[in-house]
Amino acid sequence: MSQVDPQNLPAMLQDAADHLWMHASEWQAILTRTDRRLLLKGHGCMVVDAEGREYLDALSGLWLVNVGHGREAIAQAMANQAKTLAYASSSRAVTLPAIELATLLSDLTPGDLSAVFFSNSGSEAVESALKITRQYHYLRGDRQRYKIIGRHGSYHGATYGAMSVSGTRSSVDTYFGPLLPGTLAVSCKPYSAEAIEDAIKYEGPNTVAAVIAEPISAAAGIIIPPLKYLQRLREICDRHGVLLIFDEVITGFGRTGKMFAAEHWDVVPDIMTVAKGLSSGYAPIGATICRSKIAQQFSSSLNKPLAHLLTFGGHAVSCAAALANLHILQQERLVENSAQQGSILLDRLRQLMPRHPIIGDVRGLGLFCAVELVKNLETKEPIPDGPEINRLLEILSELGVLTRAESSNLYLAPPLCIQQEQIEHIVTIVDKALSRFVQEGR
Ligand code: PLP
Repeated sequence: MSQVDPQNLPAMLQDAADHLWMHASEWQAILTRTDRRLLLKGHGCMVVDAEGREYLDALSGLWLVNVGHGREAIAQAMANQAKTLAYASSSRAVTLPAIELATLLSDLTPGDLSAVFFSNSGSEAVESALKITRQYHYLRGDRQRYKIIGRHGSYHGATYGAMSVSGTRSSVDTYFGPLLPGTLAVSCKPYSAEAIEDAIKYEGPNTVAAVIAEPISAAAGIIIPPLKYLQRLREICDRHGVLLIFDEVITGFGRTGKMFAAEHWDVVPDIMTVAKGLSSGYAPIGATICRSKIAQQFSSSLNKPLAHLLTFGGHAVSCAAALANLHILQQERLVENSAQQGSILLDRLRQLMPRHPIIGDVRGLGLFCAVELVKNLETKEPIPDGPEINRLLEILSELGVLTRAESSNLYLAPPLCIQQEQIEHIVTIVDKALSRFVQEGR
């Protein structure tokens, strides 16, 4: 549906409030808050709501519409695949797009990451990584190794395993505890590889199966790790026989100006999880990509296949969408554009700092940026989540920019096809919005 009769809009929003289970602390917010709306269509970096207003999508949906909205080539590839063969069970057969996509991912990912297990989301990609890890150690005869170490501040997903290795686990433990046995999240702010090694030693190195980390964490505020941090993690894991999992669900496919964020530091994990930008959101798909030594352990263990199967994993239509998406990413050199436009965005945002003492810091890499907002520059007292930050998002959307803010960070991560004039437009709007926010006495 690309149009709504304006007279029907209030009733449709009421239906949403009544029946659509949304991720919002107040459901009724869809009826009142101007930064929640019914979106009907999109093109490039722009989206249009049911009242015909246009917005620049400065968060690429939820960090994922990397090639931009409204791509005919992806829609065509999906339609063609659906007409030809929509589904085949991955336990009994393979499909052409699944083979082609797995091969392409093996080529694009660094080092010998080469065996691809498909799923439907970032959470499932992480969940699959955790299970592959535990079964891998079991098959090697190292049956004591079951613990998975995550880090405070991280986010790895909503399923039980992914939630349990996330740094946000303490906030969900109240409702969902006890969380998965053998999982922990280590406090290591700022990035401290030593804290991870201490945890491995404390837990007993021969009980630890894996360490999971986002190379750059959105949830922890897009703080760029120090030069040697990820290399140190690699060394520590190697020293203790622990697998290293990089969660590139957000950072993969050009978001940070390289195809994968791990490439900035030249580190190859044992397992990489991807989703979001893999299809740019045109279809649900995730993947868990493993080094050959892991896959070989499974292929050489007769009658002990991975004890984990997802009906929709490697869905032919999703794979076709991902392939068309990755072809656009490569043909239009969007990874390079992300690096180029991202450095302009960071530069322009930093130029706002002298005029806006509310900006405590500007951080980022590629088109993956955080503007830290503070009440006081000296103390760096953060602006808390809640009505104040929500008001800033409302002002931004009134001025035509949609994005997200959390833990005192305003996030900017537009589609990778963005052009310089749109970057300048975002910065102009952020500038105006901050002035208005401060004028209102926030
Ligand atoms: N991993 C990371 C780093 C994420 O940011 C997210 C979601 O934002 C996930 C995993 C979970 O992905 P999904 O929401 O697709 O399940």
